[in-house]
Amino acid sequence: MSTIFSGMWRFLHWGPITALSIIKVITLTALYMNSMWWPPNASLGGFFNQGLFLMLSSLATFNYVMATLTGPGLLPKKWKPKNPSDVDQLQFCKICQGYKAPRSHHCRKCNRCVKKMDHHCPWINHCVGWANHAYFTYFLTFAILGSFQASIILGFSFYRGVHRYWYLTHGYTHLATVQFTMASIIMNIIATGLAIGVVIALGMLLYIQLKSILKNQTSIEMWIVEKAIYRHYCNPDDDDFVYPYDLGWRENLRQVFSKRLVAAGQGIVWPVLDGCDQYTLTREQIAQKAEKRARTKTYRCIRPATGRFLPLFSQGLRVCLSPPCTDESRIRLEPGDVIKVTRFRQHWLFGERVVCDAELNMPDLQRKGPIRGWFPRRCAIELIQPEDYFDQSDDEADSGGYSQSELMTKSTAELNSIPNGVPNMCNKSLVNGGSKSQNQNGQRKKNK
Ligand SMILES: [Zn+2]
Ligand SMILES: [Zn+2]
Repeated sequence: MSTIFSGMWRFLHWGPITALSIIKVITLTALYMNSMWWPPNASLGGFFNQGLFLMLSSLATFNYVMATLTGPGLLPKKWKPKNPSDVDQLQFCKICQGYKAPRSHHCRKCNRCVKKMDHHCPWINHCVGWANHAYFTYFLTFAILGSFQASIILGFSFYRGVHRYWYLTHGYTHLATVQFTMASIIMNIIATGLAIGVVIALGMLLYIQLKSILKNQTSIEMWIVEKAIYRHYCNPDDDDFVYPYDLGWRENLRQVFSKRLVAAGQGIVWPVLDGCDQYTLTREQIAQKAEKRARTKTYRCIRPATGRFLPLFSQGLRVCLSPPCTDESRIRLEPGDVIKVTRFRQHWLFGERVVCDAELNMPDLQRKGPIRGWFPRRCAIELIQPEDYFDQSDDEADSGGYSQSELMTKSTAELNSIPNGVPNMCNKSLVNGGSKSQNQNGQRKKNK
């Protein structure tokens, strides 16, 4: 329990402050209007109407608070499987200094590996994952139902309020119960807009969540499965990929909403289909990473990039007129940064800045902002390296790359021993471009 309350600081963030304010504005305005439109002390119907609304509002608030305080379940730092030989089938997280358990992913916002991570939700200022998936889904459900009822209360009150004069002059005085002031009519309009907005936005989110729960597939796993199907389609000789966690909708629902089943396995060991094992999905992830690395090119920054979406003054009109049509982040770069690029546009590149060991270990040196995103192509040049020239450990590449100093040292030292005739297309220093240490089964080859 004390660990739950130690998460109170998470409410001091724009996400929870905004979300709780919206809940309170809708609740208090609806209660105030309801007291005039259908007073709970005047009839049994009014009593039940208000009772139901209070219950939905309280349940939404309770589940919201619990989703934030409980959190998704963080994988312990330096985690490793019980059987040491299993590490070959797992990815390594350099930041947490441990292996990623099946279904765990590293969240850059929480800066930890999260069990069965679905997504990082800024509104609860935490990830949604193994331990709080049920609370989060209950919150969405009660918030939608409560906001729907609030929009009905507010809508009818508004109608009665603006027709008050007509009721009084036509003999319907018993209907002229809603009396507006300037403040209350403004609050009614704001709260109605918020309530309808909540129903639409959270309704879409609940639809996505229920789809994900019924298939027992988090948003991240949906993306992995999509790539797996495509990968196996392109390699017909491989066995078909079977997603191991879909045990049928009833069992899938139970895995999220049954307290006993949530506790079983501690978010690390999962029941799987016959013919699959605990590492079916992690092996597929490793194989996908290996293919991605084969496509990856290494660039070095030669001009600073500001990380802005429209860097008009620093990069010029041509770069701004052909931006990547996505809201993915833009990264800030400084000359000398090394970037592993995986997507290419005419004037923009998408990649991940290689974080050096010093930056990882010393908080003072850590730069603000994302390390993965788009940047103008003219800010960097490609570093060409003959393939297979020297190898690079997968562990390092998996976890955001390898040490920049190591890279520089290697490139300079190895450069001196490169035989004549090695292509040096850009007339730049040569740096290792990728890893070849992945064998056919997607298993990790240790080269340390
Ligand atoms: Zn991690
Ligand atoms: Zn997170």
